[in-house]
Order: sequence, then structure tokens, then C-alpha cells
Amino acid sequence: MAETRHTKTLIIGSGPAGYTAAVYASRAMLSPILVQGIEPGGQLTTTTEVENWPGDTEVQGPDLMIRMEAHAKAMGCEIIGDIITELDTDARPFVAKGDSGNIYTADAVILATGARAKWLGLDSEEAYKGFGVSACATCDGFFYRGDEIVVVGGGNTAVEEALFLTNFASKVTLIHRRDELRAERILQDRLFNNPKIETLWFHQLDEVLGDDNPKGVTGVRVRHTGTGETRDIPCKGVFIAIGHAPASELVKDKVEMHHGDYVRVEPGTTRTSIPGLFAAGDLTDHIYRQAVTSAGMGCMAALDAERFLAEQGAISETPEPERHDEAVAAGE
Ligand code: FAD
Ligand code: NAP
Repeated sequence: MAETRHTKTLIIGSGPAGYTAAVYASRAMLSPILVQGIEPGGQLTTTTEVENWPGDTEVQGPDLMIRMEAHAKAMGCEIIGDIITELDTDARPFVAKGDSGNIYTADAVILATGARAKWLGLDSEEAYKGFGVSACATCDGFFYRGDEIVVVGGGNTAVEEALFLTNFASKVTLIHRRDELRAERILQDRLFNNPKIETLWFHQLDEVLGDDNPKGVTGVRVRHTGTGETRDIPCKGVFIAIGHAPASELVKDKVEMHHGDYVRVEPGTTRTSIPGLFAAGDLTDHIYRQAVTSAGMGCMAALDAERFLAEQGAISETPEPERHDEAVAAGE
């Protein structure tokens, strides 16, 4: 049955920013509630090895996020599997509606909704999504054992996806619109040294080609960005890896934004243009967009929320959070 829950601090999002905010807010005795959203654990659950999380030379993204969730729980954060569909930023306390029908009211809100994969916006891409077109190699790569695959993009994600897909594919073609990658040098070296990967420079994907019976991709039509010449490349899988856009719909037209749809925070803080509403992670950041920078901002957001609530005189009424050390021990 739908219910209304009140909390001092509502954290929206369960990526590195959200879970880190949860750890700090719990330790500050703000009795936070964290709503996980459609992707519990966030973007790192869509990858395999993470090699730049300090303290772990190599860790699987999904494992790292399970550990972060267990840590937040152990510190006393209540974690709820729900999606926030509306956030009233004029009301005090703030009012958030859950897809479950639950209502969450909060004295402070930490937005940590991160970013989502971008798509090219082609009709044919839309038509074959789930039938050969994907934005997640770790989720769907397994379906293309022994097949030819194309990956579109030139950043870290595209290169990592291309490398990962060589575990399954007979050949991977990386299609990039320029002749220079954005990806880190170490990843580029791995890419260029992989005999299963061919890089097609100065090309754009024009159309996904496919059959309808059974429904599936048969190839892609690509266009040279200089000459306009087109050619078809046969493949069974098409992975779009052209970046991520901030998931800021909940506060669109309500808070100040920058560089399009990124939520603006006061430099050096996580304060948005609305007092009591804080933002952290990829949602705010068009430059770094890393797990560790998101986690850092999650910490800042909890500390900023604590200060805000103290100024409002709201903290003293908060009961001490219950710790659940057994959750950490069990890896829950
Ligand atoms: P996200 O991880 O994007 O999480 C956002 C959260 O918000 C999700 O849990 C989602 O469910 C939730 N949410 C969204 N909308 C709602 C809503 N309406 N209601 C409730 N919840 C909501 N970074 C590195 O440092 N190292 C790497 O090796 C690395 N590899 C990567 C590999 C891939 C394939 C990708 C895509 C990214 C990678 N990154 C890596 C980047 C890193 O994943 C992000 O910088 C980081 O996850 C951002 O954290 P975040 O907490 O801001 O948001
Ligand atoms: P990104 O760095 O923004 O790169 C997007 C790539 O897609 C660019 O090469 C861009 O081309 C291309 N592109 C964009 N729009 C396109 C279009 N319409 N058609 C064709 N190509 C298009 O995105 P990302 O690779 O997803 O990375 C996002 C963030 O996550 C980055 O900060 C990255 O460092 C981080 N990340 C880190 C790791 C890691 O640390 N190992 C792994 C994955 C992601 P141009 O270059 O021409 O602009």
C-alpha cells in the first residue's frame, strides 16, 4: 500500500555519488533514505573491470557497487527500490513522488541521478534496439559469439566496449567520426594492439540495416564525413557508445543548469540554485565524469546538507541511525 515517508535527507540515485552521500549522511545522523532508481548501482554496473578506483588495482564494476550499497546500509541508510517521478522543489519539506505510489517528504534533497547513454537518434537505431542495437556491451555482448560487431564512438566507453566485445565477436569495427580518439592512452594502446579490432576513421553511422523475419540486424550503412561516400558493413550487433547525457529531468526548468542539461552547483560546493537541494556526480559534471569524482561530490553533498539542516535547526531532532555491521560482513 502506498505510504508517505518523511526523512531529513532524501538521496535520489544509487551510483557512487548517491551511496557515498548515504555513508556520510548516515554517519552525520541525518537518517537518510536513498531511492535507487531504475539502475541500482548506476553506470558502473554496465562495465567489467574498473582499474582506477583507489585501493583496488582491479575490481568488477558491479561488485564495487554491491560493496558500496552494503556500506551505506551498514551505516544505517534506508535503501528503497523505487524511481522518483516528480520532485516538488517549491514545497517545504520537499515532496518527491515514487513510481510505486509512495510519497517521500524531505528537509533536504541530494540529487545524484547521474547520466544515461546517448543515442544517435536514427529511426533504424530505434527500430532495432533490443534486436541487435545496444548501448551496453557487458549486458548484451554475450549474444554475439562468433559474430561481427560494430561500435560507434571514440571515448573511453567506446574503446572499452570494443575491447570487451572481442571476447565474443569474430571481428569488431570501431567507427569514429574523426581520426583521433578521446579515450585514455592506455586504452588506445590496447585497442590498436588488438588484432580483432579494425578502426574506421572519419565515418558516421547513417542507418542500421536489418531483417524483420526474424527481426535482427544484418549490417550498418556508414558515410565518410569528408567525401560523403557510403558503404555497408555486415554485422549482427551495433553498440552505440557516444557518451552520456545528465539525467536532470526531475529538476528541468526548476534549477539553474550549465552546458545544456547539467545541474549547476556553486563552485566548490554541491549547492544548487535552490536552498536545501544539493547535487552531486555526473549530473553536475561535464568534464571529469569518473566514479571517484562522483563519490567525492557525494561526500560534499552530505556535508553540505548537514550544514544546511543544522542552520535550519533540523538536526537535533534526528535519532541516531542504526548500524548494521552484519550487512557488511555478509556483503549484503
Ligand atoms: P550514476 O552511476 O550514473 O548513477 C545514477 C543513479 O541515479 C542510478 O542508480 C539511477 O538508477 C539513479 N536515478 C536516475 N534517475 C532516477 C530517478 N528518477 N529516481 C531515482 N533514482 C534515479 N568511471 C571510472 O572512474 N572508472 C571506470 O572504469 C569507468 N568505467 C565506465 C564504464 C562505462 C561503460 C560507463 C558507462 C561509465 C564508466 N565510468 C567509469 C564512469 C562512471 O561510471 C560514472 O562517472 C559514475 O558512475 C557516475 O556516478 P553517479 O553516482 O554520478 O551516477
Ligand atoms: P565521451 O568521452 O563524451 O565520448 C563520446 C564519444 O562519442 C566521442 O568520441 C564523440 O566524438 C563521439 N560522439 C558523440 N556524439 C556522436 C555522434 N552523434 N555521432 C558519432 N560520434 C559521436 O563519452 P564516454 O566515452 O561515454 O565517457 C563518458 C565519461 O565516462 C568520460 O568522462 C570518461 O572518462 C568516463 N569513463 C571512464 C572510463 C575509465 O576510466 N576507464 C571508462 C568509460 C567512461 P568526438 O570525439 O568527435 O567528440
